[in-house]
Amino acid sequence: MNNGKICVSVCAETTGELVKQIKQAAIYADIIELRFDCLDKNIIRNVMENILRIDKQFLVTFRPKEQGGKRELNFRERLKFWEFFLWNNKAKKLYADIEFDLQLILKLESNKIIVSSHDFSGLSGNSTATYEILTIINSDFLKIAVNANDIIDSTAVWKLLERAKKENKKLIPIAMGEAGKWTRILGLAHGAFMTYASLESGKETASGQISAQDLIETYRVKELNEQTEVYGIVGNPVAHSLSPFMHNAAFKFHNLNAVYIPFEVKNLDEFVAKFIREETREIDLNFRGFSVTIPHKEAIIEHLDEIDEAAKAIGAVNTVKIENGKLYGFNTDAEGFIEPLRNSYGDLKDSRVAILGAGGAARACIYALKKENAKVTIFARNVEKAKGLADEFKVQSSKLKAQSESFAEFDILVNTTPLGTNGEFENETPAFASQIENVKLVYDLIYNPVETPFIKAARKATVPTIGGLAMLVEQGMKQFEIWTSKDAPMKEMSAAALRKLK
Ligand code: NAP
Repeated sequence: MNNGKICVSVCAETTGELVKQIKQAAIYADIIELRFDCLDKNIIRNVMENILRIDKQFLVTFRPKEQGGKRELNFRERLKFWEFFLWNNKAKKLYADIEFDLQLILKLESNKIIVSSHDFSGLSGNSTATYEILTIINSDFLKIAVNANDIIDSTAVWKLLERAKKENKKLIPIAMGEAGKWTRILGLAHGAFMTYASLESGKETASGQISAQDLIETYRVKELNEQTEVYGIVGNPVAHSLSPFMHNAAFKFHNLNAVYIPFEVKNLDEFVAKFIREETREIDLNFRGFSVTIPHKEAIIEHLDEIDEAAKAIGAVNTVKIENGKLYGFNTDAEGFIEPLRNSYGDLKDSRVAILGAGGAARACIYALKKENAKVTIFARNVEKAKGLADEFKVQSSKLKAQSESFAEFDILVNTTPLGTNGEFENETPAFASQIENVKLVYDLIYNPVETPFIKAARKATVPTIGGLAMLVEQGMKQFEIWTSKDAPMKEMSAAALRKLK
């Protein structure tokens, strides 16, 4: 356990909506931030007088647009608001977050006052100067929020935590944006006074905010400390990854002091140097391993000390374990793919398998199928690419079939193209029901949605199916076992992924 607080941010325009949001926020919040800049200006005074009668910890904010607020507020309006607040809050019941410029003018007795700065420029180097300016004011808490376009932009504000501890200051360091999410998750464990959360997904009041429920139930932020082992998914984008939900469910199941975090990384070289490698790192988060996803699965290899046989043959690493300062690479996609297939189909020796697509996932599937002595044919829109891959793995290739042509000469059909994924391809299928008849099994690597057009086509043709979630969970389980040497809890990991998908 740490002593940090969860502050849920509430942004409502009307009294009715505000009351509803406060009730919802109270489920998880230690402190509820009332964004007065969201409220209809005609009800501000009335709301302020009323909230003083409620027995809850509120934080009052009245933020101008240029500092991330909801609407334009001129200096005079802000000054009047805060004078009115100070008059009403004489008993110092409420917290207040007052921007630096106003604190130079208002006469504040130091109590429950946060002095804040919000920098959207992405110039993280400014954080130290901002810290020094903010410390001029004798506020109880300092809040520095900077925009992070890349994870490297979040290092400067994080380093201030160490300094604040030495100088006995209570700091709230936040790197905004997807690339700064990790600061919101790990802040409390490293001494931040508070972390901000949204009411729910879709109700964020700042970029990169995580819902209070996810912060507490998935990331268990209040249970983390400096000894917590850190894992995560390194890629770009990572915002929609299900891996944090699967792995954190597994850590919780085994009651491990470990957390799994999305790390949006654009510059892999700098990330490895500044966060991972003992000799060069600037920030020590107690990293023990990470998953690697698009676009870094190949590029990570040059940073590793050793890689396993599967990763070498496939030419891609999706798992890194860190032990005694060394980085070990693995590929669990191949095993993750083959395990559900073996369980459904049985012995794969001499089975005739059509792989649709010739990208990275296809490589892992072909590698795994070859090990099982299956007979593989690759079908891809780029015939040259399919042939190159087929030659490398000593399998067959062919041009894509027309809609009138059947796959009946195959036992198993595997989709490794993105056709069917939510978004631009969601209505597309790599094969139709009429083409699938007489095939024994259809395997779609797509898991979002669970029911893809390809799976529906197979069902129409009364062919048994395996969906992509099975592979996702299985490859995640192998990762968990590599990192922890414990049995991965399949039921909990699948349920967590499925809950998030739904
Ligand atoms: P990738 O390297 O980009 O390969 C995609 C393949 O699909 C390429 O051969 C590509 O052809 C082909 N393709 C793309 N659009 C197409 C279209 N409109 N029509 C026909 N073929 C098309 O991607 P990947 O890493 O292999 O991943 C492929 C899919 O598998 C992704 O949707 C991913 O989410 C899913 N996946 C799932 C799991 C899991 O655990 N369930 C694991 C890995 C991947 P070109 O080369 O001509 O572009």
